[in-house]
Amino acid sequence: MSILSAPHFHDEAAAFERVEKVIWPQGPVCHHCGCMGRISAIPANPEKRVRYGLKRCGDCKRQFTVRMGTIFEESKLPLHIWLQAMHLMCSSKKGVSAHQLHRTLEITYKSAWFLAHRIREAMRSGDLSPFGHDGGMVEVDETYIGHEPGAPVGAGGNHKMKVVSLVDRDSGKARSVVVDDISSKVLGEIVAANLSREAILMTDEARHYIKIGQQQAGHGHTNHGAGEYVSRFNPLVHTNTVEGFFSIFKRGMRGVYQHASKKHLHRYLAEFDFRYSNRIALGVDDAARATRALQGVVGKRLAYRRPDLGAEASA
Ligand SMILES: [Zn+2]
Repeated sequence: MSILSAPHFHDEAAAFERVEKVIWPQGPVCHHCGCMGRISAIPANPEKRVRYGLKRCGDCKRQFTVRMGTIFEESKLPLHIWLQAMHLMCSSKKGVSAHQLHRTLEITYKSAWFLAHRIREAMRSGDLSPFGHDGGMVEVDETYIGHEPGAPVGAGGNHKMKVVSLVDRDSGKARSVVVDDISSKVLGEIVAANLSREAILMTDEARHYIKIGQQQAGHGHTNHGAGEYVSRFNPLVHTNTVEGFFSIFKRGMRGVYQHASKKHLHRYLAEFDFRYSNRIALGVDDAARATRALQGVVGKRLAYRRPDLGAEASA
């Protein structure tokens, strides 16, 4: 059976059920007071304009749905259309343009653009824990893409936008940052903020990494200038993994997202980081990836509270 025939892609009640199951794994949580366990469902009645997924809190007596406090709250698009869009963006390795979403979902281009950026927000990892725990290897490299606003076209990559990416070889996860310039100072700050001290840094031979590498437990670097892509002395010394990530990112940016501005570049990077960090080679299939994106739609989580169980049960 086609994945797209799943009810939550077509039926609004089923879409609510699916989202509620992912966002409220232990049952509904009141959006207003954080109460659990005293929530009743109000049956949907489109004729009487009773919304899908409406709940009533027995504690604060207010009504809410699972859309509140999530990226879904900001648009009136039906939830099953959101789930279709999320599935498309999660399952397409190089992304899906707003034009494509506009045509496939039959929504306005403006809605499609808005929705795609909200989904990127859901994909943005809140995980800031350092890469390279327990002496793991972390590849760091920079790349150039598009055009820096207002910069004259010249030699080198100075007129382009600059991106620094890190790939943790143990977890397979990628993390990317848009930077204004590529300098020892900027790279040093990124490494200090994202790498554990015991991590082994892997870079190319670029001079600006030498001092940074001395702060780490180890530093391996190749000599690309001399045509060396894997160290002659140690086959573990290379940056081929992060370069593989850049290759997917660049194919997507060239082929799908042709006019990304610097203002939005970090959002596209979050999307590519997300898909790469949750890729099939790490055991995450399309459906599991879409579920992980769905887990990210919640903006701020309320502290759970179970008035029927007393204060000690609160987390
Ligand atoms: Zn409440």
